[in-house]
Amino acid sequence: MAIKRPEAPQLDAIFATVDKIHRAEKRLAALRQQVVQEARALAEIPDKRLRIEAGFYAYWFAPDVPATDIAIGSTGKPHPGKLLKLAGPVSVGVPCNRCGEDLPIRSRSHMKEVLEQARSGPSSLPRYRLVCIPCQNALQEEALNDRMAECDAWDARQRELAKLSYAEFLQTPEFEETRDLHLWWLADRTHALECETCNADTSLGMYHKSAGDEGGFSDTILLCTSCRDALVAGGKLAGPPCEGNLILPELLASFLEAVRAELSY
Ligand SMILES: [Zn+2]
Ligand SMILES: [Zn+2]
Repeated sequence: MAIKRPEAPQLDAIFATVDKIHRAEKRLAALRQQVVQEARALAEIPDKRLRIEAGFYAYWFAPDVPATDIAIGSTGKPHPGKLLKLAGPVSVGVPCNRCGEDLPIRSRSHMKEVLEQARSGPSSLPRYRLVCIPCQNALQEEALNDRMAECDAWDARQRELAKLSYAEFLQTPEFEETRDLHLWWLADRTHALECETCNADTSLGMYHKSAGDEGGFSDTILLCTSCRDALVAGGKLAGPPCEGNLILPELLASFLEAVRAELSY
């Protein structure tokens, strides 16, 4: 049985891109051929010394080009050993991004790795920086210290939160953050912001069903005031209801609007 291609624009998109990939691969193969010719054209440099120097430079800084073609172009011999011998002993290096010392390059494949790393991203980001081994160790140490300091700060903040009354906790950025996450999650899931028990959409507030282990409160729930009162009477809510639980209708409206804007993309 022959397989019939179903009508679906998604399939069209897939095949259009596959087609582009094939064309790009052809173009890439042509460029590889071209650069080989260009390496061999080093032979056209009339001055012998310049020809060797150019070949030597291409050998190290154009590691994508086959060494044999560079060698043929600059020395007429396919083995780069002659080229390297003619060029004399030179230390090839790329400066360390941190201390400026030359990074020792061990081989042409190492050079390729280093150049690719330099091309692949901004040098301001540590993982894209070309750094020498001592600087690498120093950067790792700095990153570790930063993480430890973050952990310490987090622990200290948890201890602070544990000392707050419920009303005070409701004024913290931590509460705001969990409240907003909960609102976003609800709006995204139900496309509405309503009491999670009776679906009322007025006098809403964010409450907590339990007190957290390490201070603060967890298990948020969006409730109208009458469902809240019922849960408070049944001892099902953590913390006495406060002004801080209530959410302004404007805030709810802005969440719904933001979720709708996102959905319409
Ligand atoms: Zn360094
Ligand atoms: Zn309700």
